[in-house]
Amino acid sequence: MRDRLLTLENEIRSSLEQSSDQDSLEALRIKYLGRKGLINQLIKEIAHLSTEERKVYGNKINQLKQKLSSELNSRFERFKEKSEATFEPLLPGKVPHIGHFHPLSKTFSEIVTFFKNYGFTVETGPEIEHDWYNFGALNMAKDHPARDMFSVFYIKEDLMLRSHTSPVQIRVMEKQKPPIKIICPGRCYRYDAFDASHAPVFHQVEVLYVDEGVSFGELKWILSEFVKRIFGPKTKYEIRPSFFPFTEPSGELAISCTVCGGEGCSVCGNSGWLELLGCGMVHPQVLKNVKISPKTYSGYAVGMGVERVAMVKYVIDDIRVFYNNDMRFLEQF
Ligand SMILES: [Zn+2]
Repeated sequence: MRDRLLTLENEIRSSLEQSSDQDSLEALRIKYLGRKGLINQLIKEIAHLSTEERKVYGNKINQLKQKLSSELNSRFERFKEKSEATFEPLLPGKVPHIGHFHPLSKTFSEIVTFFKNYGFTVETGPEIEHDWYNFGALNMAKDHPARDMFSVFYIKEDLMLRSHTSPVQIRVMEKQKPPIKIICPGRCYRYDAFDASHAPVFHQVEVLYVDEGVSFGELKWILSEFVKRIFGPKTKYEIRPSFFPFTEPSGELAISCTVCGGEGCSVCGNSGWLELLGCGMVHPQVLKNVKISPKTYSGYAVGMGVERVAMVKYVIDDIRVFYNNDMRFLEQF
């Protein structure tokens, strides 16, 4: 037994030295460590030895088995590393340029994600709207002076490119009974001159929550969470009185300047504040227009320009950079 063990050890050593790749190592493993391998054959033969010898050779064979197994493993690893390290592409090539989201898309998705996390669902509506949805139902009759705030692209009388996303809340409230908790992201159109702060096509997100007992406090709370999430926990905010025909009371949310932190600088006109969005409690007449009783239900609405949010967040002073497709600008995001 002793001689056979020595012969086997020598044989294994020289086979290991000769093996030059992973395939030959695998062949060795099967030959010696496999179920019908040489080492297992030897183990079977131990049964014919005396108790004393069985103990001695059993130990020795086990040691040989373990040694061979760990030696095979480490050689496997070495061959593997070598084959990975020496890999080279057949032809030199260019690393493909991987793109990323446009700053407006990024802002859009941050806003939508925020409200979705608070249980709002996304609704969309047509970009060509009827007068009733764009104005009438929102408490702006034909002769209402507030219509002048929205420079409308008319297609024909009573039909226009929507000038805000608020028509979507009317469409949803007509079909659905409260509780209604929705956001409406989308494109809007106004014939404003294309300058640093106006674009004829821009994006808005409308937020609407209607249920029994919805209060201004809840509106204030969701806006404070929104400001913290989008602009950082240290950002201060205030809601100032404002006017919109479709909300009563109406407010405007301003946040502490993202450049000077409220100290006063040229971006915030030394006021320390930047106006961000409009909001308010849904006007009782708007609820009546969609046959929801303002005696039972109340709600809040928020309308924000996505460009405005992105401009405040990334300190951009010209809206036109979003549409120029200048890579020097886009690559900064
Ligand atoms: Zn400032």
